[in-house]
Amino acid sequence: MPYRTPGRPYDAPVSNDCLFCRIVAGEIPATVVHETETTLAFRDIGPKAPVHVLIIPKAHHENVASLAEADPALAGAVLAAVAAVAEAEGLTDDGYRVLFNTGRHGGQEVFHVHAHVLGGRPLGPMLAG
Ligand code: AMP
Ligand code: ZN
Repeated sequence: MPYRTPGRPYDAPVSNDCLFCRIVAGEIPATVVHETETTLAFRDIGPKAPVHVLIIPKAHHENVASLAEADPALAGAVLAAVAAVAEAEGLTDDGYRVLFNTGRHGGQEVFHVHAHVLGGRPLGPMLAG
């Protein structure tokens, strides 16, 4: 039986062996900075910039493509949460970067879709090399 949290819609997809589903369920601690009924934002455990926040849908979707296909409104809610986090973290004046690492070549390590929001200093070229 999949676990539920108060914020999780009853029928939302869940993966019992997914790290980010476990954060949504409160089984693994995270520093939450923003939450809506359908999304959660928390600080990355290995920050690559002064501000590094991950925004996820509470429902389990593997990547941005499968999220957009299965639930476009939820994809929009994730982007709205990105904007809200950027505002709350004081990033809107100087700007920031939003990344969805996808698949092997994209360097995706956690297969529960997440937007990285990075900022707080000039981030340099888009790719390291
Ligand atoms: P990706 O490579 O795009 O899948 O990014 C996964 C991100 O999750 C990495 O930046 C990790 O530092 C981050 N991460 C892994 N475990 C945790 C955790 N328990 N809490 C917060 N962030 C995490
Ligand atoms: Zn998940």
